[in-house]
Amino acid sequence: MNNYVARVLEETKKKNANEPEYLQAVEEVLTTIEPVVEKHPEYEELGLLERMIEPERIITFRVSWIDDNGKVNVNRAFRVQYSSLIGPYKGGIRLHPTVNQSIMKFLGFEQIFKNSLTGLPIGGGKGGSDFDPKGKSDREIMAFCQAFMTELQRHIGQDVDVPAGDIGTGAREIGYMFGQFKRIRNAYEGGVLTGKGLSYGGSLARTEATGFGLSYYMREMLKANGNQTFAGKTVSISGSGNVAIYACQKVQEMGGKVVAMSDSNGCVYDENGIDLATIKDIKEVKRGRIKDYLKVHSDAKYMERTSADSPIWTIKVDIALPCATQNEVTLNSAKELVKNGVIAVGEGANMPCTKDATEYFLEKGVLVAPAKAANAGGVATSAIEMSQNSMRFYYTFEEVDKKLEGIMTNIFKSCKDAAEEYGLGNNYVAGANIAAFSKLAEAMKAQGVV
Ligand code: NDP
Repeated sequence: MNNYVARVLEETKKKNANEPEYLQAVEEVLTTIEPVVEKHPEYEELGLLERMIEPERIITFRVSWIDDNGKVNVNRAFRVQYSSLIGPYKGGIRLHPTVNQSIMKFLGFEQIFKNSLTGLPIGGGKGGSDFDPKGKSDREIMAFCQAFMTELQRHIGQDVDVPAGDIGTGAREIGYMFGQFKRIRNAYEGGVLTGKGLSYGGSLARTEATGFGLSYYMREMLKANGNQTFAGKTVSISGSGNVAIYACQKVQEMGGKVVAMSDSNGCVYDENGIDLATIKDIKEVKRGRIKDYLKVHSDAKYMERTSADSPIWTIKVDIALPCATQNEVTLNSAKELVKNGVIAVGEGANMPCTKDATEYFLEKGVLVAPAKAANAGGVATSAIEMSQNSMRFYYTFEEVDKKLEGIMTNIFKSCKDAAEEYGLGNNYVAGANIAAFSKLAEAMKAQGVV
């Protein structure tokens, strides 16, 4: 291993020993960008890697709110303002009981590279809280979101830091947060949050963007490898949230047959092909559990999750799209998928494959669409939402979708070109990291020691 990369990795491990997800994300990037570092010995003197992996700022704060029984609840919240190198900090807000500093840092770190790949002027950030939205009333969600924004508003702004949705933060939560921001600031700053509702500044196609973008990226990757398409291929998609639902919609439009979807409790397998209208009704309208799918489609099968290895990956498919959460595809799951003949894996979620699972796929010749590139459609469309807010003008659904398709096609091309330039074949995991890093490194060099 390159000496500089090895030293920085060692120091980072020592300093952040209790942050496994963050270390996993850093290690993946550092080990794949080695050839670029080799080519640029000046990076060491500039402390470029050290500066790239240390967040510019981390804000941690308390959120106190009152539940429906009149009891005071306290949550811990974060905003990691990772890098403003190429634009205002930009990244979503995750509301999930597992949120901690390690997860916030890994997501923020990934975000810098993802945003670089979009080719748009957005820096990297991430935020969230260990608040669990499940089972809360609308009023409780509003109380939490208002309390959260009361503190967060000091740190964000349309030219400073622009949060968006993520796990547990959808249109409803963004609406409550935007209302509170506006109340406190006494100004309509439309571009301060993205993923807004269409009635007050949101962009058409933002809801669909991450899932659609993933499908466009996969289409390009399949085309570049043997001129393949989704047509006639079986697909499993984990999760049944924002990313999973719209990935399913686009894959079906492209002729793929989605046979399984999941939530954190288990998965449904429908050999006739998933009926997306039923999934949307359960998840977007009733906020229910995926098991309820069987109430409408009694011939489908339900498999409960009983361990870290989700049962969805035991189902035989041509293409797997993990769209739920980090590390949901373990090495065991990767082995099951390969045994069953999977040809491609597309990461809709952030870092859904463990490091050894990704390595196993690559070793076995399975195509891997890395999250940073493949799920960048969401943030790219958020940047398009910001430009519409600045212009005080809206594009049609078709216009945004066309731009998204163009951006995803370009992102795939950047990953492919970078992989080829460094003789890495179709290793798009390395290609994505190299393409994103090269641009960030140039920007860092140009801006001096800050
Ligand atoms: P949602 O909250 O809409 O949906 C998340 C889905 O994943 C749900 O089905 C949920 O099941 C499942 N899930 C969440 N946590 C776990 C867990 N620990 N184990 C198993 N299943 C879990 O989130 P999104 O669809 O927005 O996000 C999904 C992933 O995509 C995340 O990794 C996110 O960071 C990433 N992403 C999202 C973008 C966006 O635009 N929304 C953009 C880029 C990346 P349950 O309901 O049971 O909890």
